[in-house]
Order: sequence, then C-alpha cells, then structure tokens
Amino acid sequence: MKALVKTKDEPGLWFRDEPVPMIADDEVLIRVNKTGICGTDSHIYVWDEWARKTVPVPMVVGHEYAGEIVELGSATKGLHLGQRVSGEGHVIGMQSRAARGGRFHLDPQTRGIGVNIPGAFAEYVKIPAFNVVPLPDEIDDEIGAILDPLGNAVHTALSFDLIGEDVLITGAGPIGIMGAAVARHVGARHVVVTDINPTRLALAGEVADVVPVNVSMEDLASVKARLGIKEGFDVGLEMSGAPAAFEQMTEHLVMGGKIAMLGIPSRPSTVDWTRLVFKMLTVKGIYGREMFETWHKMLAMLQTGLDIRKVITHRLSVGDYVQGFEIMKSGNCGKVVLDWTR
Ligand code: NAD
Ligand code: ZN
Repeated sequence: MKALVKTKDEPGLWFRDEPVPMIADDEVLIRVNKTGICGTDSHIYVWDEWARKTVPVPMVVGHEYAGEIVELGSATKGLHLGQRVSGEGHVIGMQSRAARGGRFHLDPQTRGIGVNIPGAFAEYVKIPAFNVVPLPDEIDDEIGAILDPLGNAVHTALSFDLIGEDVLITGAGPIGIMGAAVARHVGARHVVVTDINPTRLALAGEVADVVPVNVSMEDLASVKARLGIKEGFDVGLEMSGAPAAFEQMTEHLVMGGKIAMLGIPSRPSTVDWTRLVFKMLTVKGIYGREMFETWHKMLAMLQTGLDIRKVITHRLSVGDYVQGFEIMKSGNCGKVVLDWTR
C-alpha cells in the first residue's frame, strides 16, 4: 500500500510502498479516505529536536483520519465492514490503575499512532477495536479527519463550566479557533481569542462569533475595558504554547480563575508563581481527549449546530502533500486536509 513514511533521519516525508497491516483478533483495518495534517506531523516533517528524540525511523506518520472498516478481527464486537469511522489516536496499555479504573486517558502506557506506532498517512491503518469511533452519517470524512484536534479543543474547553463566563483563549491556531467555537456553542459570554498572526485572527472571526485580538498591537486591559469585563476573564484556555501568552493569561484572569492548558511550550520556561498563588488560580493540564467522553460530546455538539468547517482552509490530494506541509510551515492556514482517494 501507499504510505507517507519518515524513512530517513532528516527533514521530509516520502511515499513508500508498505505492507498492508496484519490485524490481531482485537483490531480492525481501516481504509483511509481523508487525513488532517497536525502540528505534530509538521514537527516530524521538519524533524525538529522533539521529533528526532521521539519518533523511531522508519515510521508511517499521521493520526488524524476518517475512513471505513475493511477487515474485522475475530474478537471484535459491534462493528461492521464498510462502517465509516475515525479513531482515538492514543493506544493505551490497559494495565495501569488508571486504565483499569476506567480513566483511560490517564493511562501512562499511552502510545501515539503515527508517532510511536504506525500511523494513518497510508491507504490502510490498523487500530484496536476499542479505539474505533463510528461516524454518524451527517459527519462527513473531512470533518471526521479533524476530530482528533477538535477533540483536543473540546477536552480543553469543557474542562471548566463556561456558561455565562468570560473566556480568554490564547493562540488562534486550528485548535484555539475550534476551542473558541466550542466556548461560543456552550454559552460563554465574551470569547476573546489572541494571537500575533493576523491571518489566523481573521480566520478565528470567520469560524466563530469571537473577539480576535492581536496582542502585538492591542493590550488586553483595553479589550477588557471595551467589553465591560470589570475584573478579568473567568476561564483561560491556553492554546499557543507561548510562555508570554501564559503570563498574559494569569495577569488578566479574575481571582480564583481557571486555566485549561493544552499548548506545549517548546522548552522549559519561567512562570510567575506568586501571581498564581495570590490570585488562587487553578491550572489543569490537558493531553489528548477523554476516552470516550470527549468523543461523545464532540459528536453530539456537531450534530446540534457546532460548525467548525471553515477551519479547514486547504483541501489537497495526498500527491500534493509537500505543498500541504509547506502551507503548514507558513502558519497562514487553518487545517490542511489530504484526500487519499484521488
Ligand atoms: P499552532 O502552532 O497552529 O497554533 C498556535 C498559535 O499560537 C499560532 O497561531 C501562533 O501564532 C500563536 N501564538 C504564538 N505566540 C503567541 C502569543 N504570545 N499569544 C497568543 N498567540 C500566540 O498549534 P495548534 O495545532 O492549534 O495547537 C495548539 C497548541 O496545542 C500547540 O502548542 C500544540 O503543540 C498543542 N497541542 C497539545 C496537545 C495536547 O494533547 N496537549 C495536542 C495537540 C496540540
Ligand atoms: Zn493531531
């Protein structure tokens, strides 16, 4: 089968002919129709320090996909051939106390599809039946292909009660923008999204009814004054990984404010802990999606009016993947979706 593989210890990805994965009794084989390029795939493409440390070579990359089941392991139940599916990209060990207690997303033995084990940028991918997420008819393949990052956004946004709250989202990348759409959907009052990239801020405004703020040009104090937010934002969703954004967030949150932190700083950074202490802030780290509560809520919201389609700015045939990765590198895009059927 055709697959996009990190075949060499250097920047780039290459098509390679790979054997179709052999499935075990508890696994399914999925024919991939569409895939999303994730920031993680970008890191692997440019082969930065994190990628070189983390990803063994060779590796079929990719973990954002939608497709259909073409083979079922003998021990699988409740799934059928031809079923349209996506899947949770974290494959867990099931041995830990957390997993055995049903808190699957807290399993320390998590391995990532397309990072630690063969991924979905291929004509076929195998995953444990446990990880399969069937797609309702009204959720098409391109939305199915970005459920993984939408799930990051949903997990982050639903970490704290947002109804009637003023929400600050730092980072208008695809996940920050989708997080903003979720905050709006569930009934936040003001949703302010910051970035330093005007293209992304414009996109945020197109996807959801939010207040985009370019923090390289406008101060959040004046934004609060403009919106009539007297004390500060009630909840912060950190979606940039930028230490400066985190500092700004703690500065502009209310006393007792809450932060859900998805963004991954590229290196250790300094935090003003006194501010966290004296403002009695809560910070919750977010990794991946809750299995499978996040998936349930995300599908339900998509079925009841959550619309994030405009976050997909580029649709390319997989043959044009280099262009897709270059667009990702430029930062002037939302989600880039690759079509494996043409
Ligand atoms: P992205 O890199 O596309 O977006 C980050 C955005 O932050 C960019 O638009 C950038 O311009 C902006 N930014 C930079 N400095 C800023 C500042 N000072 N203030 C405000 N914005 C600033 O990333 P993404 O794909 O949308 O993902 C969001 C973050 O979440 C990234 O840090 C990513 O690594 C991380 N992530 C975490 C998980 C997890 O499970 N924890 C999963 C996926 C992604
Ligand atoms: Zn991803």
